[in-house]
Amino acid sequence: MAEFDNPYVDNDPFVRAHFDCLDCGGKLWEYAIQGQMVCEQCRSVFSTEHVFDVSVEQSAD
Ligand SMILES: [Zn+2]
Repeated sequence: MAEFDNPYVDNDPFVRAHFDCLDCGGKLWEYAIQGQMVCEQCRSVFSTEHVFDVSVEQSAD
Protein backbone atom coordinates (compact mmCIF):
# COMPACT_ATOMS: atom_id res chain seq x y z
CA MET A 1 0.00 0.00 0.00
CA ALA A 2 1.16 3.48 -0.76
CA GLU A 3 1.92 5.55 2.25
CA PHE A 4 1.05 9.18 2.51
CA ASP A 5 0.62 11.72 5.24
CA ASN A 6 -2.97 11.92 6.27
CA PRO A 7 -3.43 14.82 8.67
CA TYR A 8 -6.65 13.30 9.98
CA VAL A 9 -5.10 10.10 11.26
CA ASP A 10 -3.94 11.49 14.56
CA ASN A 11 -6.44 14.27 14.93
CA ASP A 12 -10.12 14.29 15.56
CA PRO A 13 -11.37 16.39 12.65
CA PHE A 14 -13.74 18.17 14.97
CA VAL A 15 -12.80 19.74 18.24
CA ARG A 16 -15.45 21.26 20.43
CA ALA A 17 -14.56 24.90 20.68
CA HIS A 18 -14.93 26.99 23.78
CA PHE A 19 -16.91 29.62 21.97
CA ASP A 20 -20.54 30.36 21.24
CA CYS A 21 -21.95 31.06 17.81
CA LEU A 22 -21.86 34.73 16.95
CA ASP A 23 -25.29 34.46 15.34
CA CYS A 24 -27.42 32.21 17.52
CA GLY A 25 -25.35 31.41 20.60
CA GLY A 26 -25.11 27.71 19.75
CA LYS A 27 -22.00 25.66 20.29
CA LEU A 28 -19.22 26.12 17.80
CA TRP A 29 -17.15 23.19 16.62
CA GLU A 30 -13.72 23.80 15.29
CA TYR A 31 -12.33 22.19 12.21
CA ALA A 32 -8.92 21.30 13.60
CA ILE A 33 -7.11 21.85 10.35
CA GLN A 34 -8.92 24.49 8.33
CA GLY A 35 -8.96 27.08 11.10
CA GLN A 36 -12.71 27.38 10.89
CA MET A 37 -15.56 26.89 13.30
CA VAL A 38 -19.06 25.73 12.44
CA CYS A 39 -22.16 26.20 14.56
CA GLU A 40 -24.00 23.01 15.45
CA GLN A 41 -27.33 24.81 15.40
CA CYS A 42 -27.39 27.21 12.47
CA ARG A 43 -24.38 25.81 10.57
CA SER A 44 -22.80 29.21 10.22
CA VAL A 45 -19.09 29.02 9.54
CA PHE A 46 -16.65 31.45 11.07
CA SER A 47 -12.90 31.71 10.95
CA THR A 48 -11.31 30.71 14.23
CA GLU A 49 -9.38 33.96 14.21
CA HIS A 50 -12.54 36.05 13.89
CA VAL A 51 -14.36 34.21 16.67
CA PHE A 52 -11.36 34.56 18.92
CA ASP A 53 -11.10 38.30 18.25
CA VAL A 54 -14.78 38.88 19.01
CA SER A 55 -14.62 36.81 22.19
CA VAL A 56 -11.62 38.76 23.41
CA GLU A 57 -13.48 42.01 22.79
CA GLN A 58 -16.56 40.77 24.62
CA SER A 59 -14.63 39.57 27.64
CA ALA A 60 -12.65 42.78 27.92
CA ASP A 61 -13.91 44.83 30.78
ZN1 LIG B 1 -25.34 29.50 15.24
